[in-house]
Amino acid sequence: MEKISNFIGGRHLPPVSGNYLQNTDPSTGLMSGEIPDSGPEDLAQAVAAARAVEKSWAATSSEERAAILLKISNLIIRDKELLARAESIDSGKTLEAALNIEIPRAAQNFEFYAHGATQFASESHAMGQSINYTLRQPLGTVACISPWNLPLYLFTWKIAPALAVGNCVIAKPSEITPVTAWMFGKICQEAGLPDGVLNILHGRGSSIGRSLVSHPAVKAIGFTGGTKTGAEIAAAAAATFKKTSLELGGKNPYLVFSDCNMEEAVTHSVRAAFSNQGQICLCGSRVYVQKDIYEEFKARFLEEAGHWQPGDPLDRASRVGAVVSRDHLHKILSYLETAREEGGRILTGGKVVRLEGRCENGYFIQPAVIEGLGQDSRLNQEEIFGPVVTLQPFATEEEALAMANDCQYGLSASVWTSNLQRAHRLGAELEAGIIWINSWLLRDLRTPFGGHKMSGQGCPEGGYESMRFFTSVKNVCINFA
Ligand code: NDP
Repeated sequence: MEKISNFIGGRHLPPVSGNYLQNTDPSTGLMSGEIPDSGPEDLAQAVAAARAVEKSWAATSSEERAAILLKISNLIIRDKELLARAESIDSGKTLEAALNIEIPRAAQNFEFYAHGATQFASESHAMGQSINYTLRQPLGTVACISPWNLPLYLFTWKIAPALAVGNCVIAKPSEITPVTAWMFGKICQEAGLPDGVLNILHGRGSSIGRSLVSHPAVKAIGFTGGTKTGAEIAAAAAATFKKTSLELGGKNPYLVFSDCNMEEAVTHSVRAAFSNQGQICLCGSRVYVQKDIYEEFKARFLEEAGHWQPGDPLDRASRVGAVVSRDHLHKILSYLETAREEGGRILTGGKVVRLEGRCENGYFIQPAVIEGLGQDSRLNQEEIFGPVVTLQPFATEEEALAMANDCQYGLSASVWTSNLQRAHRLGAELEAGIIWINSWLLRDLRTPFGGHKMSGQGCPEGGYESMRFFTSVKNVCINFA
């Protein structure tokens, strides 16, 4: 049973109040540890620790920062088995996914921004007898707040660029999945990150999260999470004109045309629907299929979906783990009830699964495939964030485009076609920040990443975009006439 601590000024500290929250293993339903229920006193300590080293960290050379970031990356790889196991126990995700995808990506985030630190540059503009150059300077102390679905992966995706450009960070992981963030604090210390440059506070979003975003010492907020929380953070930040980067929810369409490679489209659409139990913001949860291949696609989709069955997340053969909490399981089940009320047909799945042995009280559900719902069904409009996918037929490209765009979210879309003109047309016309053509979740860390509409706001992340976000911009104009 792990009792974890905050990481402040290089020290592992209990919460000043002495209050702790319970942490639960979703695969067993049992308490797995305790986490600090941090409050204003803990935040004050973290702010003091960060401010004390703001100037010295900003003054380090980019090579020095890069060397420390690279060391952190290497230590994540060294500890990947331990981190992956902790991530699986904390979140219910399969050990396989944590070990092969998520923890390696956390290391990659730090490696990528270590290189970024030495490559980052700014512009200059010559103008007759004068020259302008752009100074990009660290902001000081910034907040990084991340969700529970890809815990260490998204935690590091925000922290690495913030540190790379010379900021101090106060980071808050989700209270539901705190353990790898706690382990990460120790890694940073071992890598020689100066005390106070990174501070990690655990606790509830509704208390320590709120205090963090409204603290005057915090100059920018990098946030990934739900749209409702994002709106609250945007409102809190507006009062003091803090910079915000908000990566929010999604309800991503998956468009399958009759000229596609059917086998690829089926395999990837099932993967897009059910990976990480459907708990990835980029999951394809609305699948639109051209009428003339609808029945064949559906049959093959259901056959493939049959291979996605829940099992003990620590069993390396399991493809589907537990969903993250009992509350989340009930939320998913309530959407399935809504589907029935709205006239949907659940073609497969949707039932709670009771495994034998260690996981008998875990939060497992069979991935569900539903058809027969209208475009304005809540299941086609609202983010469920679980293993639930809807199938709908369409006749023409125009109809598919209209249905795909008919949603408040605009995070990503995936198009399956061999028609090059159509691919380019839809790439331009779909209302989303990432359009995949004949692929899903193919990521290059240099590319901009950010949602449209209710899926995000302001600066996208990714590559130099994240580094630019975490800097202030100044133009210096020199007249040499
Ligand atoms: P939440 O918005 O509930 O929480 C995200 C983080 O914000 C958590 O650390 C949470 O703490 C904290 N938080 C909650 N309320 C506040 C507040 N008022 N002020 C400051 N911080 C707060 O999201 P979930 O954790 O439930 O994550 C799922 C959501 O994240 C989905 O909507 C998903 O689509 C989205 N997401 C988006 C991605 C993207 O790149 N666009 C990527 C991954 C997920 P606590 O856990 O303690 O409540």
